[in-house]
Amino acid sequence: MSISTKKNHKVIVIGGGAAGMMAAIFAAKNGAKVTLLEKNEKLGKKMYITGKGRCNLTNDCSLDEFLQSVPRNPRFLYAALSHLNSQDTIALIEEYGCPVKVERGQRAFPVSDKASDVTRALKNAMDRLYVQTVLNSEVKSILSQDGSACGVQLANGTILESDAVIVATGGLSYPSTGSTGDGYRFADQFGITVTHCCPSLTGFDVQDAWPKALQGISLKNIAVHAMRKNKRIYHETGEMLFTHFGVSGPLMIELCSLICDQNLRDIDVFIDLKPGMTKEQVDARFRREFTENGNKRLSQIMNHFLPQRFAALFPNICGIDGEKSVSQISQAERTALAEAMKKLSIRLTSTRSFSEAIITRGGVSVKEINASTMASKNVNGLYFAGEVLDVDAFTGGFNLQIAFSTGALAGKYAALQED
Ligand code: FAD
Repeated sequence: MSISTKKNHKVIVIGGGAAGMMAAIFAAKNGAKVTLLEKNEKLGKKMYITGKGRCNLTNDCSLDEFLQSVPRNPRFLYAALSHLNSQDTIALIEEYGCPVKVERGQRAFPVSDKASDVTRALKNAMDRLYVQTVLNSEVKSILSQDGSACGVQLANGTILESDAVIVATGGLSYPSTGSTGDGYRFADQFGITVTHCCPSLTGFDVQDAWPKALQGISLKNIAVHAMRKNKRIYHETGEMLFTHFGVSGPLMIELCSLICDQNLRDIDVFIDLKPGMTKEQVDARFRREFTENGNKRLSQIMNHFLPQRFAALFPNICGIDGEKSVSQISQAERTALAEAMKKLSIRLTSTRSFSEAIITRGGVSVKEINASTMASKNVNGLYFAGEVLDVDAFTGGFNLQIAFSTGALAGKYAALQED
């Protein structure tokens, strides 16, 4: 397939994900002739699986609240989020045919609960702005002349020239959706620094066997604490999940975002199974239950405190025989049970791999990108947007909004790029 070898594309966008589509829309809105190249057979393949297929497209919060949900390089995003904020994104998606609703935690979703409707709205916008979308079109390299990006070469050998190139190729997470780190290779081609990449917003493998034995159990209203060298680095109350590999669920995924690039063996993680009670109150409750149910087995009594399978295993985790009747439990054992209820240690060994990670930590160094335009500071005509950049946020719609905002800014300034 040969698309064109003439210089008739002012702006080329590589990647048809959230960042690339928004970049194409803003470049076209600003008068550019835009070609969007996507290597997959369809646009927004990752968008389809976001928010469990419902697409939590943004978070309807203020700029300050937004930046507090970005643990990595938040200040870099200030201009992009000021140019296109969450409310602007909602308005734009609605304008192009996809009504949006806001749910708990200010998370925004399409009213239809269908991620495909968000992609359809963006495609609709691109069509109305005459963006040329070319699917099944993999970019192999970015062309340069006199240190400026001036087009791309496709995998089939076709050369496309342009005045500006926007790299919106995503990161490394969920590579089956097309995010295979090509943008890092492109950056490298121009000597642009790519910081160390690791999987983020995913669960953890653990050292102990017991969490895996509890696979499928979800704990609500518990607290997770993390300490590094006796300094508290995380403390939140909410929900977590035991899995076949270890631990996951909202609290663990959020914790991952804070520690994924660190040596996990230096970090002590504890679960507080009764955050609403002090250790003394838990102990008093045990004492009362044990007195009232002297003949019952310990594991039976633990049912009053924990889900059944966890209750059966809990004495064992504490080194106590759960088959003992509670009348045989010593004071020291009861104290150990109360202590474990308040501070149950989980030894993390590693995060899960990129194939399960919601986002990539690391990427194109923001020190080498102009935060006001998304342009490379050193390579004329080259722009980066979305997950390819070294920015990432918590769950809640923030990561898609980062892709939309950086894409919009890159699109605008790529359109204004001088020849
Ligand atoms: P991508 O969406 O990865 O798009 C990059 C595109 O570039 C791909 O289509 C790829 O095929 C294409 N491409 C790559 N290389 C080339 C090449 N050489 N030539 C041509 N095309 C190329 N975030 C939220 O805010 N809310 C959520 O609900 C949410 N849920 C998620 C659920 C899951 C399971 C996952 C994995 C992520 C989720 N995220 C969510 C994160 C969000 O999906 C990403 O932050 C966002 O998609 C990044 O957008 P992007 O455009 O930068 O990259």
